[in-house]
Amino acid sequence: MKRKRQPDREEGLKLRRRTPFSLKWRFTIGLAILLAATVLMLGWLVLREIEKEQMSRVEATMKQRSDLANLRVRQMYLSADAQDDVNTFFRRRGPELASDLSSLLGNAHIVLYDAKGMEIGNSQPLSTTPSIEDILEYAKKGRTVYQVSGNSLVYMAPLVWSVGQVGIVQLETSLQADQDYYARLQRSLRNIGLAALAVSFLIGFLYVSRVTGSLRKLRSAADQIRDGHFIKDSPVRRRDELGELSEGITYMSREIEQSFARQKQFIGNISHEFKTPLTSIIAYSDLLDMYRDDPALLDEARENIRKEADRLLEMVEKVLHLSALEQYEFGLNAERLDVRESLEEVCSRMRGKAVQFGIRIETDIKPAQIRVDRESLMHIFMNLLDNAIKYNIKGGTVHVSCSVEGDKAVIMFRDTGIGIPPEAVVKLFEPFFTVSKDRARLTGGTGLGLSLVKRLVEVQHGSITLELPPSGSGSIFKVEFPLASPGTVKPLQA
Ligand code: ADP
Repeated sequence: MKRKRQPDREEGLKLRRRTPFSLKWRFTIGLAILLAATVLMLGWLVLREIEKEQMSRVEATMKQRSDLANLRVRQMYLSADAQDDVNTFFRRRGPELASDLSSLLGNAHIVLYDAKGMEIGNSQPLSTTPSIEDILEYAKKGRTVYQVSGNSLVYMAPLVWSVGQVGIVQLETSLQADQDYYARLQRSLRNIGLAALAVSFLIGFLYVSRVTGSLRKLRSAADQIRDGHFIKDSPVRRRDELGELSEGITYMSREIEQSFARQKQFIGNISHEFKTPLTSIIAYSDLLDMYRDDPALLDEARENIRKEADRLLEMVEKVLHLSALEQYEFGLNAERLDVRESLEEVCSRMRGKAVQFGIRIETDIKPAQIRVDRESLMHIFMNLLDNAIKYNIKGGTVHVSCSVEGDKAVIMFRDTGIGIPPEAVVKLFEPFFTVSKDRARLTGGTGLGLSLVKRLVEVQHGSITLELPPSGSGSIFKVEFPLASPGTVKPLQA
């Protein structure tokens, strides 16, 4: 058996302490950090792509222009009258070539060098060009290079003819428009990012505030329940998990309240029921004190004291059994068994009592395998059969049956007895309930039997109901248990 866990007061107190850094701030700040990181990352990716795209566009344009310059210079050399060599041609026509190329390429600033890197022509001799020594070295070796300084880009490409590299063309272009566009985009992205961050921070804060507000309400409801103030209505009405939790807490509160009320009533009943036999015992001992020599009284007193003491003992046993059922979880002693064996054993044990009462027991018991605690099952059957005999009429019968219906074993105790009035049906399974107090005293009944039976049945996943007999007289108690799963079937003994 496993002991049910008792609520720990220490734990309850721990819950009361305020958390220094509330969930609301944790969530909101966490959300803000996440968003800021996403916006930064996205912004960085977009800007990087745009920068790359701008540069490759500039490179393509410069390449196109330098190719055009190469072609043009070559064309001019070939159409020159004098058959100078390239170097002489360059020295003589350099400045003219540079301004010709400049007007061809939309007034761009053009500088021409010979193969050794000596300047031979400049379309804007007065303009200042950033220092280009480094890239000129590369260009002299036949490589295409460029250098960005501030908002201008200096591009150098070798002039290569069939005889090899004959010179270098230098083109300059302004990056101002691209840089302006980039800066504008950067500003827009930053503003959009900041606005998105502010709006989502606000929405997040409001939402999380609502959630934590609900949580606070739930916590205060739990505190109230712990202090014994039960709640009737759900403290939080939401259509999400918090709403479900709140419904759960409200349900729990109602259940605890009801079980407190039941316990109170139970304790009240116990004291009342215990008082009656005790009063009777005390009265007989007082009488014995007063009339010590009356042999008739002596016999009567002995018999009654014995009867009342037996009743008390039975009550104590049943109350203990009931409260044990509340405290411990059954099921560990559950075993697979055949209902038929237990039922037949109970019938044979009770046959003596039946004969005494002039009652006939009839049976129609089919085998049915279930998983229950054997002792408890015997207890259930004994109580029901005992009642069917006790509350029967002389010459009556008790019909005990067992059958399999669907995935259930159905056990019935049908008697031809005094029956149960309809108004008593709702209270029948409550502790200490008896239809007639007088009859109960006469038969030694305690009113605890059926409540114990119901508890024992339910603890083992079964159900018990009272059915109306078709004939209209007597009563039928119907007990159902789920059949044991077929996977664990043992072959039945023949
Ligand atoms: P008791 O110890 O009084 O028999 P139970 O809890 O077993 O306690 O039964 C409660 C009451 O239900 C009984 O006092 C009796 O009035 C009624 N009762 C139980 N079983 C039957 C039955 N088979 N026929 C008629 N009345 C019954």
